[in-house]
Amino acid sequence: MNVKAPGSSRIGVLTSGGDAPGMNATIRAIYRAAYELDIEVIGIRRGFTGLIEGDFFLMERSHVANIIHLGGTTLGTSRTEEFKTIDGRKKATENIQNIGIDALLIIGGDGSFRGASLFSDETGIPTIGIPGSIDNDIPGTDFSIGFDTAINTALEAIDKIRDTAISHGRLFFVEVMGRSSDLIAIESGIAGGAEYLVLPGDKNAIINLCTQITNAFSAGKRYAIVVVAEGERPGYSFSIAEEVYNKTSIESRVVILGHIQRGGSPTARDRVLAAKLGVSAVYAYTKGHAGVMVGELRRSIALTPFDKVIVGRQKPEQNIVRLAKILTK
Ligand code: ADP
Repeated sequence: MNVKAPGSSRIGVLTSGGDAPGMNATIRAIYRAAYELDIEVIGIRRGFTGLIEGDFFLMERSHVANIIHLGGTTLGTSRTEEFKTIDGRKKATENIQNIGIDALLIIGGDGSFRGASLFSDETGIPTIGIPGSIDNDIPGTDFSIGFDTAINTALEAIDKIRDTAISHGRLFFVEVMGRSSDLIAIESGIAGGAEYLVLPGDKNAIINLCTQITNAFSAGKRYAIVVVAEGERPGYSFSIAEEVYNKTSIESRVVILGHIQRGGSPTARDRVLAAKLGVSAVYAYTKGHAGVMVGELRRSIALTPFDKVIVGRQKPEQNIVRLAKILTK
């Protein structure tokens, strides 16, 4: 690839960590905003892996044509241990310097921003983050790109399962994603009218669930949907179902939604958020901002320094947890 022309501006863009619907809409927004401002965009394939291997290409309009509605990421993504090593980050620095990238725009989650922050501190290469994650647990933004699509995918599945639950008179456990975030379970549970919600942090969840199910089924209820947050133990709904059977003799079926929640065409909400954050990230770069994540807080664009973003995952607000407790029992 050609070296940057003197006086011109060049930014690199990559997607990293878990993919989320809306990442493509973000890439498109970044490219189009940069194009307006005469800034060249270098596409970096497969996240930090591509940065280490120098897997770069000069982006053109055609690369962002017809991608706004696509799930996943056309740039590809990865998780790589090599970027956690000084040697790995040195290779990445050399590649960036060789072709003259002035700043890196990173679409990903808190892990990616941890890497970006370290990289900037070591090399002085400016980095700007954009939150792309289905979990919606990144501080500094009310919503991360991909969350709205993920809860709508979960909701569609819950609605379909409800049809068969009612028809057969059956108890269903529907396990939804979210490593350390319960928010997909909470919001899809509320929206889907789940009869019960099981969150990993709740020690009394199973006991309470057994009591409630026994009471409801003795009173004539024939079906129920329990939404379970997978937490750190994907698949643990099977052991919950077994425990509930042992305690109540009520049979059930388990559905693990898994990776289908990551895929699919982004919702309008996610595309609009992607547009706002992608364009704002380019403007933040032109104004000299670096080491920040671009988010949206109470309908305004907010730049939050990486050290405040990577402090830990954001827990769901108490209001929504209370709402879920009122409606799902
Ligand atoms: P996400 O960005 O979705 O949270 P991960 O936590 O898997 O995803 O992080 C994505 C990548 O970011 C990792 O594979 C690694 O290359 C890089 N990364 C994460 N944490 C660090 C860290 N402490 N130092 C350097 N790089 C990191």
